[in-house]
Amino acid sequence: MADFDAIVVGAGCAGSVAAYELAKAGKSVLLIDRGNFAGAKNMTGGRIYSHSLKEVFPDFEQEAPLERKVTHERISLMTGDSNFTIDFSSNDMLVAGQDSYTVLRAPFDQWLAEKAEEAGAETIFGIPVEELVKDDAGKIIGVRAGEDEITAEVVILCDGVNSLLTSQAVGAKKPSADMIAVGIKEVFELPASVITDRCQTNSDDEGTAWLYVGDATKGSFGGGFLYANKESISLGLVAGIEAVATGGSEPIYQMLEDFKHHPQVASIIKDGKLVEHSGHMVPEGGKNIMPELVGDGVMVAGEAAMMCINLGYQVRGMDYAVAAGMHAGRCAAAAIDKGDTSKAGLAPYVTALDNSFVMKDLNNYQKTPFFLENFSRMFNDYPALVKKAMNAMFIVDGTPGQPLKSTMMPLLKEVGYMNLLKDVRGAMKAL
Ligand SMILES: Cc1cc2nc3c(=O)[nH]c(=O)nc-3n(C[C@H](O)[C@H](O)[C@H](O)COP(=O)(O)OP(=O)(O)OC[C@H]3O[C@@H](n4cnc5c(N)ncnc54)[C@H](O)[C@@H]3O)c2cc1C
Repeated sequence: MADFDAIVVGAGCAGSVAAYELAKAGKSVLLIDRGNFAGAKNMTGGRIYSHSLKEVFPDFEQEAPLERKVTHERISLMTGDSNFTIDFSSNDMLVAGQDSYTVLRAPFDQWLAEKAEEAGAETIFGIPVEELVKDDAGKIIGVRAGEDEITAEVVILCDGVNSLLTSQAVGAKKPSADMIAVGIKEVFELPASVITDRCQTNSDDEGTAWLYVGDATKGSFGGGFLYANKESISLGLVAGIEAVATGGSEPIYQMLEDFKHHPQVASIIKDGKLVEHSGHMVPEGGKNIMPELVGDGVMVAGEAAMMCINLGYQVRGMDYAVAAGMHAGRCAAAAIDKGDTSKAGLAPYVTALDNSFVMKDLNNYQKTPFFLENFSRMFNDYPALVKKAMNAMFIVDGTPGQPLKSTMMPLLKEVGYMNLLKDVRGAMKAL
């Protein structure tokens, strides 16, 4: 007889939700994380889209340590000395299930793990799972953590993008460098009212999600981000590893230094106290680098299964992790009830994900990484083009004015009409 019905490795968004669902279904479940507490080592930009969280915790708005509700979406095209920003707000963004919130992972992940504990899950923190235990037939029957070997009917791997266990479990291959990005982030404390004023929202409960293209990553594939929290600003960059390694760009930490000193960004974080610095991988290859999701006695969820997308105007991984954790937990409980935790017995998890937004999105955005990786004009030429166009419109220096057509056409010609058409077509197809 196994020690537990289920073991979940990793107390991030996917793992704590999986453990919560199993415990809620009356199963004995052990949640193990290498961090000293849930969220200790976790990182996001970040904002979480609420829809999947609401399905698991209908009253999460009252309980979860959310920062601000996102009421403004901003995208900036930057050159070294210019900035062009689109600011979008809409009442539709505020509707329950369509809304999103900025979060800080340390408090948020602790809340999620507490929900699992309250439902009956046992937790162990501060110990990494080093190895999976298999029976003679190769079925996974437990984990080895520290000195201990602990057994279970099913093991759910939610150990994130750098999973060392998925290769043992389902033969996951290491993704190539062009499918992985690296993210770095700093958090600056500021009074709530200062953040509200600088981000131009209506109250201290409202926040902004801001993405920057162009000079933020010195023209290489990637972008900057800024999220307004209650009393802090999360500021960071995501850059393609291959683009940074081969593109002759600056090291990413230097990019972040320059980004912080860009006049537009500097004015928002001015006098902020740096309280956190973190770095993390981002699996941008999505569906192209996903491992098998089930094996005999094992399931994989969240970023351990590479469930993440970066569309340039949207970065998502947490809502996928929550949904995948929910399906994994529910399907594992059903398989335990049926007494079949073989690969075939766990297959309903794959079907559930296929029928959900998780796999539908990952299928739909399968071409995005290839498009963005080769979309160098977006990170160089277009921010420069926009700067020239805006200069032409707004700078008045006494030289005779020109009709818009005669100022804009030469600028478009610089990029090339065919290139422009090609990029619009490519973006329509991939994004
Ligand atoms: C810079 C950056 C910006 C992002 N911005 C956003 C955003 O704005 N919105 C969004 O939705 N997503 C964003 N993402 C993606 C999102 O953060 C992830 O998709 C999400 O955190 C994945 O959740 P997870 O539970 O699968 O994995 P994680 O949150 O990474 O959790 C994995 C857990 O497993 C534990 N672990 C790992 N190995 C072991 C082991 N061997 N033994 C025990 N425990 C182990 C870790 O300590 C960790 O707690 C961003 C990511 C980055 C890096």
